Amino acid sequence: MKVVLIGVGQAGGKVTQALAEFDNRMGFDAVRGALAVNSAKADLQSLSIDTCLIGQARVNGHGVGGDNELGAEIMQEDTGEVMGQLDGRITAEAEGIFVVAGLGGGTGSGGAPVLVRELARVYDIPVYALGVLPGRDEGAMYQANAGRSLKTLVREADSTLLVDNDAWHSSGDSVGDAFDAINQAIAQRVGLLLASGEAIEGVGESVVDSSEVINTFREGEISALGYASATASEDSAENINTAMSTARQALFTGTSLPDARTADAALLVVAGRPESIPRKGVERARRMVEDETGSLQVRGGDFPLDSDRLAALVLLSGVERSDRMEEFMKRAREANEQQAESDADPAAQFQNDELNDLF
Ligand code: GDP
Repeated sequence: MKVVLIGVGQAGGKVTQALAEFDNRMGFDAVRGALAVNSAKADLQSLSIDTCLIGQARVNGHGVGGDNELGAEIMQEDTGEVMGQLDGRITAEAEGIFVVAGLGGGTGSGGAPVLVRELARVYDIPVYALGVLPGRDEGAMYQANAGRSLKTLVREADSTLLVDNDAWHSSGDSVGDAFDAINQAIAQRVGLLLASGEAIEGVGESVVDSSEVINTFREGEISALGYASATASEDSAENINTAMSTARQALFTGTSLPDARTADAALLVVAGRPESIPRKGVERARRMVEDETGSLQVRGGDFPLDSDRLAALVLLSGVERSDRMEEFMKRAREANEQQAESDADPAAQFQNDELNDLF
């Protein structure tokens, strides 16, 4: 899928840059443009992709300090500037736009839903969100911000792909130490998913097409991505078991939202050298994904890639009903209530007893 990426806020910018670099290093050319938008000048200065500073009149390049309502207002006021910078970059070949943000902060949390809405109004191609959820141990403000941002994003975006900050790093690392590792994992895994429909070699019936990726992202739903890989054998018959075990691992322990396994629709992509990808193994693994997710709409296909390994990517759409999502929304609601209780104004307390949309 040919995409243009727009990172909003610190995490958004870093993840966007990591994705653009991975795509470039691999020579996939799925990422056709990358822009980082922020209200904090210093965060933009550390990036090597194109940047757009917003909110100068309000915060003078200093960021919004975790105030996502201010982040939303600033984006609202300066949308014209961002849209102007994008002019001419979202060409006819682009099949989707991804707005990337950490949902727990301020600029990305507040700004991403506003930007998604504006992009969806202007462009005919799907506008997706790639959102990073705060880990369990991040503070109440992060949880509350992310809850409201997510609610609004899901309403505005064609689909919202989530990565939980607790998911893709080794246990033992603090979330902070793990940022680089998480960003690299996102770049590789989401990068492979985007490129999987772009294979030029070995195009055939079994090769995944970008329309299959697009069709798996369901309108208004939350999606998660699972990944695992293993050394491939020279003998493709031996890889039948490897395809099954990596797909299982991707689904059971490798998803971007831990334990999310229920889905309305799913896509299984097996990547590796064409001669090492076992037809039977892919089909068996696809049926396993059907059984485990309870979805009857599981697509499956290959991604020819010059690698000694066999990798399984599982895109799950409709994970909002998973325990993990319920647990997160509960955490976000409680954090929001805590914030409301510490507010001296009883009228505000009354207003805040539910998670409100951001706008
Ligand atoms: P903003 O600049 O105001 O949008 O705020 P941030 O992007 O720093 O958002 C804060 C949230 O994103 C918190 O939940 C952080 O844990 C998370 N975060 C910040 N930087 C990174 C990063 O580089 N990678 C990842 N995965 N998460 C990050």
